Amino acid sequence: MAMSSDLRILVIGGGAAGFFGAIAAARTNRAAQVTILEAGPKFLSKVLISGGGRCNVTHACFEPARLAQGYPRGGKALRSPFSRFQPRDTIAWFEAEGVALKTEADGRMFPTTDDSATIADTLMRTAQRLGIELRSRSAVVAIARDSGPFTVTLRSGEVLEADRLLLATGSVPQGYRFAAELGHAIVPPVPSLFTFKVDDPRLTDLAGLAVPRAEVTLNLPLPKGKLPPQWRQTGPILVTHWGLSGPAILKLSAWAARELHGCGYRTIATVNWLPDENPETARQKLLDCKGAIARKQITSHCPLGSLPQRLWQRLVDGAGLDRDRRWADLSKPQAIALANQLTRSQFAIAGKGVFKDEFVTCGGVELKEVNFKTMESRLCPGLFLAGEILDVDGITGGFNFQNAWTTGWIAGHAIAAAPTAQNPEAP
Ligand SMILES: Cc1cc2nc3c(=O)[nH]c(=O)nc-3n(C[C@H](O)[C@H](O)[C@H](O)COP(=O)(O)OP(=O)(O)OC[C@H]3O[C@@H](n4cnc5c(N)ncnc54)[C@H](O)[C@@H]3O)c2cc1C
Repeated sequence: MAMSSDLRILVIGGGAAGFFGAIAAARTNRAAQVTILEAGPKFLSKVLISGGGRCNVTHACFEPARLAQGYPRGGKALRSPFSRFQPRDTIAWFEAEGVALKTEADGRMFPTTDDSATIADTLMRTAQRLGIELRSRSAVVAIARDSGPFTVTLRSGEVLEADRLLLATGSVPQGYRFAAELGHAIVPPVPSLFTFKVDDPRLTDLAGLAVPRAEVTLNLPLPKGKLPPQWRQTGPILVTHWGLSGPAILKLSAWAARELHGCGYRTIATVNWLPDENPETARQKLLDCKGAIARKQITSHCPLGSLPQRLWQRLVDGAGLDRDRRWADLSKPQAIALANQLTRSQFAIAGKGVFKDEFVTCGGVELKEVNFKTMESRLCPGLFLAGEILDVDGITGGFNFQNAWTTGWIAGHAIAAAPTAQNPEAP
């Protein structure tokens, strides 16, 4: 039986999930020896670059079932963990360490300092205060397990032993390899959270233009013949130098990450620039303008809603109308063409772009092989997993870190406290 004073816990990966796990473990069992092994020269490097250097720590959503809806992969598995550690707990955790978080209009939460170093420094300080051994430049190259402890080999050749292991290596291939070697199936990793590359004359030179509310639908082959509701998103769209971005696009990229990968990021996006209209209502309203504002030029403004003027002009061009045409001269076929431009503009997606360098990985350790009450492997007792190594990913807005905090926290408590199948009486 491993006594609490013997318990050797190795955390592989010094990121958000690894730190939260290590800190929870050290707090749960003060006698345990907790070590974080980090391959890089610096700990918490993703925390530092996250959120454009501000670290979007979590999302102001405090209802576990609703919060879980922010995860294209893993939402169902996270529902119960969120009832134990959710954004409210993240806020309290950081507050207890002297860090105040603030909420922005769209629900994203940041440290009031607007500086990700506040979060990284706090995690480092807390870990040091608890006596956690922090080893950077300590890349793990092999993990083996027979009947006894885990043996962990570092690139330097040094071999360490551990009673329990927390694998929190994020989305690097080596971490998936370790999990696979310890018996786990890996759902093939593909990128999530990206922008759409679109080369279309209607968008040329419009970079920076934002439409606060548009509806975008992906025209991908439909699973079971039905459009999954998440493949249609309503929200802000931003035109960039390369194509389309903004929350509605990023959400689509996450929800259809695997299907978009499957089609080589080449498909059609249909945009309704006026989501309260459909082709029929738009056509009728456009024809009404023939009488109501007969002498006005069509390009002067969009009479159906507040569309940026430059975009409206491009849609008028796209419908094949002369720029000096007046409403009185609008023919029925032209009204149909313009209504279609407004409510179902088609844009050919020709690839994926980056979103402020932020990306996450869809795919990872198969979730049914992990017990989400403890984050312990169901296949390899004593092995715990947390963070992005799991087949969990969230939409942008703080959901990905919340996954790291929640699964790290649960793993940390269980790794130091709960008996495992391998070690039924400890500690
Ligand atoms: C540019 C960018 C910005 C982002 N901004 C946000 C944001 O604002 N909000 C949000 O919610 N999400 C954001 N994300 C996503 C978020 O950063 C990740 O989901 C999160 O960091 C995952 O945490 P993790 O601890 O699981 O993995 P990681 O943070 O990736 O940490 C894993 C660690 O393991 C180490 N490691 C890997 N292999 C080994 C090995 N063999 N031996 C030892 N160590 C190893 C790695 O070096 C790394 O430090 C962003 C992502 C990027 C790329």
